[in-house]
Amino acid sequence: MSSAARERSADLHLHTYFSDGTYSPEELVAQAQRQDLQAVALTDHDTVEGCPRTAAACLAVAIEFIPGTELTAEQDGHEIHILGYGIDLENPKFLNEIGKFQTVRQNRIREMVQRLNQIDVPLQAEAVFALANCRAPGRPHVARALVQAGLVGSLDEAFERFLKKNRPAWVPKFKMSASNATALIHQSGGVAVMAHPGLNRSDEVIPAMVETGLDGIECFHTKHSASMAEHYLQIAERFRLLVTGGSDCHGLSKGRPLIGSVRLAYEHVERLKARAAERRAAAVRHFPA
Ligand code: AMP
Ligand code: ZN
Ligand code: FE
Ligand code: FE
Repeated sequence: MSSAARERSADLHLHTYFSDGTYSPEELVAQAQRQDLQAVALTDHDTVEGCPRTAAACLAVAIEFIPGTELTAEQDGHEIHILGYGIDLENPKFLNEIGKFQTVRQNRIREMVQRLNQIDVPLQAEAVFALANCRAPGRPHVARALVQAGLVGSLDEAFERFLKKNRPAWVPKFKMSASNATALIHQSGGVAVMAHPGLNRSDEVIPAMVETGLDGIECFHTKHSASMAEHYLQIAERFRLLVTGGSDCHGLSKGRPLIGSVRLAYEHVERLKARAAERRAAAVRHFPA
């Protein structure tokens, strides 16, 4: 389809192999171009490592790039993912804080491997780190390493037998509070958005998150039905939240690549950018480097 025939749109929820996706930044951007997206955001879990390369690849093909991350957080016992958009990638406090989460993730890998070893599954942590080759490794990397070592037949088998909640190698993931995640994003000049609220079905936490500065809500997501999207659009209006959306594409690791399957109208990108500019100005005023 020609770009003129299609309204300008964006996919603001994407992963690369810097977290649990399979695409390199360059492959991701090539796919974004094929999908005729005007803007993309990279939202790898607990890291911004992939942002500089994605930015460069976007620049080369005139796609607008918004740096981002997806932080794992908790509100009143619910696991909540918080997207941070427009953060300053060189903010020392931000890098220091997410560095801690990355260390926690690396230790979690070692603990999962230890548990596997205890049940005579001879995986080595180094094999997982070599394969992951990123600072924020997770269970998908352990699953891939198990497949690579011939210890299981498939990723599914790895999760079913070992890695799923309450299976022998499952280790809970550290979560910061939602208010701390939001504050960290704000201090780094970014905008905080609640990811895929329809997946958690935990609407009751939204008012408290708004109270602590939540800027937006991801109304459009691969796993949201049309009625769910409508429901969250109403919530966005009620709480005066920004509206975002994205495919949550993980490359080829979850079946077909999803990039471009959720398309956010560009007007929402403009509002997001305006809020990011405000947050950036406030961060410089309140939290000088
Ligand atoms: P982690 O953040 O390390 O707990 O890993 C979570 C990631 O594991 C999710 O984003 C999925 O990509 C993947 N995952 C979780 N459950 C499964 C499963 N049953 N099969 C395949 N991948 C899974
Ligand atoms: Zn993921
Ligand atoms: Fe998520
Ligand atoms: Fe995601």
